[in-house]
Amino acid sequence: MSAYVAPVEDMLFALDLAGLADLVALPRFAEASPDLVSAILEEAGKFGAGVLAPLNEIGDRQGCALEPDGTVRLPEGSVEAYGQFVEAGWPSLPFDPALGGQGLPAVVGVAVGEIWQAANLAWAIGPLLTTGAIEALSAHGTVDQRRVYLPRLVSGEWTGTMNLTEPQAGSDLAQLRCKAEPAPDLGEDVYRLFGQKIFISHGDHEMAENICHLVLARLPDAPPGVKGISLFLVPKVLVNDDGSLGARNDLKVVSLEHKLGIHGSPTAVMAYGDTHGAVGTLIGQPHKGLACMFTMMNNARLNVGLQGVGVAERALQHAVTYAKERLQGVDVTDPQAGKAPIIHHPDVRRMLMTMRAKTQAARLLTYYAVAQLDLSHAHPDEAVRAAAHARMDLLTPVVKGWCTDVGFEVSDVGVQVFGGTGYIEETGAAQFLRDARVCRIYEGTNGIQAIDLVGRKLLHDKGAAVKALIADMRATVMELEKGTPAKSPLDVAALAVPLDAAVDDLQAASTWILEHATPLDAQGACTPYAHLFGIATGGWLMVQAAVEARRRLDAGEGDPAFMTAKIITARFMADAILPFTRAHRAAAMAGPDSLMALEETCF
Ligand SMILES: Cc1cc2nc3c(=O)[nH]c(=O)nc-3n(C[C@H](O)[C@H](O)[C@H](O)COP(=O)(O)OP(=O)(O)OC[C@H]3O[C@@H](n4cnc5c(N)ncnc54)[C@H](O)[C@@H]3O)c2cc1C
Repeated sequence: MSAYVAPVEDMLFALDLAGLADLVALPRFAEASPDLVSAILEEAGKFGAGVLAPLNEIGDRQGCALEPDGTVRLPEGSVEAYGQFVEAGWPSLPFDPALGGQGLPAVVGVAVGEIWQAANLAWAIGPLLTTGAIEALSAHGTVDQRRVYLPRLVSGEWTGTMNLTEPQAGSDLAQLRCKAEPAPDLGEDVYRLFGQKIFISHGDHEMAENICHLVLARLPDAPPGVKGISLFLVPKVLVNDDGSLGARNDLKVVSLEHKLGIHGSPTAVMAYGDTHGAVGTLIGQPHKGLACMFTMMNNARLNVGLQGVGVAERALQHAVTYAKERLQGVDVTDPQAGKAPIIHHPDVRRMLMTMRAKTQAARLLTYYAVAQLDLSHAHPDEAVRAAAHARMDLLTPVVKGWCTDVGFEVSDVGVQVFGGTGYIEETGAAQFLRDARVCRIYEGTNGIQAIDLVGRKLLHDKGAAVKALIADMRATVMELEKGTPAKSPLDVAALAVPLDAAVDDLQAASTWILEHATPLDAQGACTPYAHLFGIATGGWLMVQAAVEARRRLDAGEGDPAFMTAKIITARFMADAILPFTRAHRAAAMAGPDSLMALEETCF
């Protein structure tokens, strides 16, 4: 398998475009100078390429195992790599210095996280979930929970998991049955939990001496449905008030799932309270647990979108290396030159350019959304914070849904670039495809993300956040129209027309949904609408990237070859990918008639 090289120049460019300069001008992020960020990415690149990437294939081949003594064995090297990861201080990058964090913007943490996901997606799920647990505890934990747990999670000494899913409760958490009973004999706000959770990522392992499970369960007086769900912190090993470890808690792994991909990540069926009850403490208010868990889920959704970016980048690099080496056919422009590397063939170029454009667009979109998150926390102006929050909130399901679709599609095209060899496991292309698949399922399926985009985002504020986004997109078109018409592939003015057409599609589909807002219309439209949304916003950011690259080219800033490639890739996005918004618009606005007309008995 070809080596992974972190695309540091591209990541720095995406960070610039996401507004890193504005962020580091804020007092909270004053430390994050461009030189420091660049040095961090270089070092992370070395760790990803040198330590994590070599374990990716081993993890896939060996998988995880539940030993007879109940311990979960990870693939060779995983535990040691985690030790080095913690030793080097990687887990603490974006967290509050008061908790032992390094206080960098979340978007820098995300750029670094892309490297972990690209290098070894299965392994990197562990730190991803710990980040979500830190967010949830920071926002909703009690003073004691925050004092005892947060510094240890931030340092990576302990890890976190999220426990939502039960056999009968997946997308529909209203059906949760796991129970929590008050345990006054153990203290105020202490509970005993009973029940089973399934599909728990990194549910057990030996990377850390303790694992903090965030578990959804129902109190005895809970109202039915999602309004009766509470969130609990249930450690694998009980924790004393000073943070020292006590006895093993009453929870265990019953079995590990056998999966299509991410074999290096243990996906556990967990039993809570088989003996006397798993001891936990309440996070947030009784019956308000789902809102607390949403803090973790929103964070995790952005990071799962990032997994799509990481796996796409890895698949792209792998396919490009192969396409330059594999000799088949002759060059259509120079048939006498003998056998040509397949990268010379226009159809292979189409595959590679599609992979490249979608990967870069997904990266821009993810970084942009997370930079909005930073602004929403750290900007001194309340109006800016509110606008950034609304933008991040709107884009979260798009990042999760579209970027994970991109991760899978790019990995799929990667297999195609390899031809028959791609279908053979040894080349590694197949592993990217298998690993990428789950990202479209977990953290809420992409169908549920599309429903969220339409229901909780578009309809909820009567289109206000979408209209604000469309206005920003139109402003980019207007700027482009001021430029001179295209004379060469490097003239960015030519991007105005395709971007404008994509924005028209987004506006038309949004208006149609707002005006036809029966649940059937809206839910029937949601998936094509989400695809349209992802392509249009990804395309918008690619156009901005081209404009900035053109500016740097004209100003003699940066590497001219890099800037030229940015502009050409955006032109390809505009020529070959943006036009798909028209088809998604048509599908979204077709209405539910043919969708729902067939009698169920006919299926
Ligand atoms: C490898 C792996 C790791 C996971 N890790 C975790 C974890 O760490 N913690 C955790 O709690 N869970 C985890 N999950 C569970 C995951 O989040 C769920 O599988 C996912 O949310 C979907 O739930 P489900 O499997 O029950 O599917 P269902 O909810 O049964 O959905 C089946 C299909 O129906 C669709 N659907 C369902 N309801 C609706 C609706 N109302 N409208 C339209 N379509 C609908 C879905 O989109 C899907 O296509 C993991 C799953 C896997 C496979």
